[in-house]
Formats: sequence, C-alpha cells, structure tokens
Amino acid sequence: MTKTHKPRLLIIYTGGTIGMIENPETHALQPFDFSHLIDNVPKIKMLDFHIDNIQFNPIDSSDMDPVGWGEIARSIRDNYNDYDGFVVLHGTDTMAYTASALSFMLGHLHKPVIITGSQLPIGEVRTDGEENLITALQIAAATTFDGSPMVQEVAILFENYLWRGNRSTKMSADNFNAFKSNNYPQLAKIGLGIHFAEEALWRPKEIKPLQVNTNMDRGVMFIDLHPGMPQSTLHHLLNTPDIKGIVLRTYGAGNAPTAGWFIEEIAQAISRGIVIVNVTQCVNGGVHHRRYVSGDKLANAGVISGHDMTSEAAITKLMYLFGLGLTPTAVCTRLNTDICGEVTL
Ligand code: ASP
Repeated sequence: MTKTHKPRLLIIYTGGTIGMIENPETHALQPFDFSHLIDNVPKIKMLDFHIDNIQFNPIDSSDMDPVGWGEIARSIRDNYNDYDGFVVLHGTDTMAYTASALSFMLGHLHKPVIITGSQLPIGEVRTDGEENLITALQIAAATTFDGSPMVQEVAILFENYLWRGNRSTKMSADNFNAFKSNNYPQLAKIGLGIHFAEEALWRPKEIKPLQVNTNMDRGVMFIDLHPGMPQSTLHHLLNTPDIKGIVLRTYGAGNAPTAGWFIEEIAQAISRGIVIVNVTQCVNGGVHHRRYVSGDKLANAGVISGHDMTSEAAITKLMYLFGLGLTPTAVCTRLNTDICGEVTL
C-alpha cells in the first residue's frame, strides 16, 4: 500500500551536546532546551514532513539510566500509532547503551527509532548536529516500495553512518565519526543519497503489536580483566551484594587466566546462581570458548558465551532478561538466542 500522507515523525529530545550551550561563567557545556535546538536548524522546514516533539528535562547522557530508557520507551509506545518514525536526540556518551536497551525494551518494533546527537553543539558554526538531525529525520521517513518503513529497528545515525543500535559502540570522543559497529555492516551508505543495505536491515518475523517492557533489572555489572588481578579483587567483585548477572570482559577470543583459584572463584559464583556472560575486550570479533584451553575452562565452569555481542548489548540484555523475572537458567537460555539482531550465533 502506498503512503498517501506526509511522513509523520516524532522527535524525542533527551539532551546531550547537540542541544547544549556554554555556561558563561565556567565555559562548561550544559544541557539546554529544545526550542534553542530547533531554532538553530531552520532547514528543517524544507523537509516536507509533519514533525512534533516531546522534550524531557535535558540531561548529559552520563546521567541516563533505566528510568530514562523507560520514559523514552513509553513515549514511543504512547505515540506509536500516530507516527511513522521516531528520532531520539541523545548525548553520545551512553547512546550505544540506550540504543541497546531500547532494542530489547521495544518488543516487536516495526517502525524506525533513529537515535542521533552531535559532537559539537547545534549553535556552533561547525556543528555536526544539523546534518545529523536532518539525515536522521530523512531515514525515519524512508519507506520501501510498498510503503512499509525501511528501518524497522533501533538504529544510530552519526555522521554519514547508520548502524544497528545494539551493535554500536562509541569509538571516538573527538571525531565527528564517533560510532562504529565492529561486528555488523552499515545499514545504509550515506553520501549524496541514502542507499539502504536492505540485506543488513532487521526484519521482524511477523508484525505483532508493540510490546514494551520497561522493567530493567539493575543487579548487573561488568568485570573487566587485566593481567595481575589479585584473587581478593576478583573474589570481592564476584561477591558484590545484589548482583544477579555479570558481563565478564575477557581477552581475545574469550580467554581468561587458567589458574585454579580463578576458575574456582568463577565456578562458585555460578553455583550461587549468578549468570556470567563472556564478551571480548577486543573491538572486533567475538568469543570462541573452545578455541583455547583458557576459554574452554570458562565454558566448563558454566560461563555463557556472549559471541560477538558488544559490551553495551550484553549488559542491557542481562538487565532486560532479569527484568522479565526469568530464573538464572532461563536467562542463560535466552542469552543464547538472538532477540533483535544483537548477536551472530
Ligand atoms: N557528554 C555528552 C553527553 O553524552 C557528550 C555528547 O553528547 O556528545 O551527553
């Protein structure tokens, strides 16, 4: 069916550098309101789109948390049937976590949720914010030949790149090209035109009503290995109160020390019901537990492979699965499934 109306898009403004201004006394950037942001993008009127907005109390994304994710998810749910697509303006620092969290929270999503922001505030002459916002809106409005949404997932648009949200990582604190998906191809080639890589885009198996789960369990943490970590440190971390799930960030193809005490500490934590999922500290590639003895020992102790998941996807997947109220065994089973394109199995 061909679409007969102007694309209807909803911008959800959560904060981030894109809308910040300089504090006159300290010269530090601080969040500012949406009208300032939009006044700096006069070109937006040239788009033949119907655009509305929702403005949150703008924050630096270092302050984003499951409450904020819930607010974004509920805003999308409450407006889902009234809009063709959603653009979330967000700080870059935790954008990949928000993108990953939303991808799990927005069950059966089949409309575009495009997250963007900028490295320079929109009021600055060399800002990247204007182009990012305009391109994000165009992507959110794009349709296939039959009028269905081109993007049916949570994606990050940054500079000239469109990445799957739960495959993305912030790579640079300085470059306009700030995000990358190291284990998954670009969803579009953006140059003079926008050419979608249709084979890379997520397609839900069936169209079902949006099912939003905002209950994210905070009882999770990262343990980042480094050579020489004492047993007492590992023991302390693994015994952190109220922790149900741990993302263990290991070396290379998922390797960790083979010392008896190390494996014993891990095995004990697992026997207490803690779920441990292994992701690599490498920026590219994934965990292959059986490639080396060291990975093999972790697998034998009951550590779950995170395969090629990003750290951001792994930690938010744990939050989501425990938030569903699943038992540790059920969480382990679901970790081994691809929920919304976050992992290659
Ligand atoms: N600190 C900012 C934030 O994440 C950085 C940015 O937006 O680029 O909110």
